[in-house]
Amino acid sequence: MPSYVNPEKCDGCKALDKTACQYICPNDLMVLDKKTEKAYNREPEMCWECYNCVKICPQQAIEVRGYADFVPLGASVTPLRGSDSIMWTVKFRNGKIKRFKFPIRTTPEGSIQAHEGFPEAKVEDLDNELLFSEPETLGVDFPTLKK
Ligand code: SF4
Ligand code: SF4
Repeated sequence: MPSYVNPEKCDGCKALDKTACQYICPNDLMVLDKKTEKAYNREPEMCWECYNCVKICPQQAIEVRGYADFVPLGASVTPLRGSDSIMWTVKFRNGKIKRFKFPIRTTPEGSIQAHEGFPEAKVEDLDNELLFSEPETLGVDFPTLKK
């Protein structure tokens, strides 16, 4: 199920130039209906259910189906963002509610050195079938896997 905006909860992010869901969607799917001041997903079949809009919406107005690896079929799931964690509320088909808290990153944006400890990338490696850090990171000595 792609993202769905509950018009009763959406306030159109009145305080923002661009709505939070528009800002965050990697597929540029969310738009604001200027007349109703409600957002909607303009191309549901392109939604990959990444949860970005669901997590950023300040009104908890957006829903996406819960992934089967953490909620059972038919349950709804709603995140509430805090400064250091997200509180997830899962509502089961029988009405039972469970909540769990999951920490989020606390390091400042831009502070991660993604390639620290790895050698400089080389253009000729684009033709190599191995991944950037292989074979070292496989932790196994495959004589046939050599760069
Ligand atoms: S982020 Fe939420 S409240 Fe803001 S426009 Fe999108 S759906 Fe509406
Ligand atoms: S779930 Fe992801 S891809 Fe779908 S509308 Fe929301 S942000 Fe965009």
